[in-house]
Amino acid sequence: MPHTLAPLPYSYEALESFIDQETMKIHHDKHHQTYCDKFNTALAKYPQYAEMEPVELLTKLESLTDIEAKDKTAIKNHGGGFVNHSLFWQMMDPKNTKDEKLIAEIITAFGSVDEFKKKFSEIAVNHFASGWAWLVRDQEGKLQIYSLPNQDTPYAKGHTPILTLDLWEHAYYLKYQNKRADYIANWWQVIKLIQG
Ligand code: MN
Repeated sequence: MPHTLAPLPYSYEALESFIDQETMKIHHDKHHQTYCDKFNTALAKYPQYAEMEPVELLTKLESLTDIEAKDKTAIKNHGGGFVNHSLFWQMMDPKNTKDEKLIAEIITAFGSVDEFKKKFSEIAVNHFASGWAWLVRDQEGKLQIYSLPNQDTPYAKGHTPILTLDLWEHAYYLKYQNKRADYIANWWQVIKLIQG
């Protein structure tokens, strides 16, 4: 099995009261673990890619001619789930500190941090069904906000993720039930990178 799940880089209760510890534990230990396991299963037929960094594999996936279409779908879904959740844990890390350079870039691109949050939140609230909201840097270095379905990643477009928010119900249902907007509003409180 080439890939293993890293432990959550902080305690399950570290994000209380914005994200509850039961959600964090199930999300990391069950959902993320399952993406990891199924990613390994999908790769089992392709030992030539076992050692490739998952981000590189997802970036190149569509262009690889030696992977069958149905296996590409499995790698995209489970490899995407594996990589996306790792990003998600990192950007919510309570040890993160304010990133002045990122804040300056956000102000240039969107007018203010509040305007950025408003635009990102609108896209996240309005995303239909499961998926993720993203702040990315495109090939020209420009910041973009968009949402993607399922476990699709910006890497497949050649974009570099900066912030991401899990919009699957498993990310918030225990605490917030159907109130995705409340989950999003509280989620900003755990993003230390852009807190003023
Ligand atoms: Mn998730």
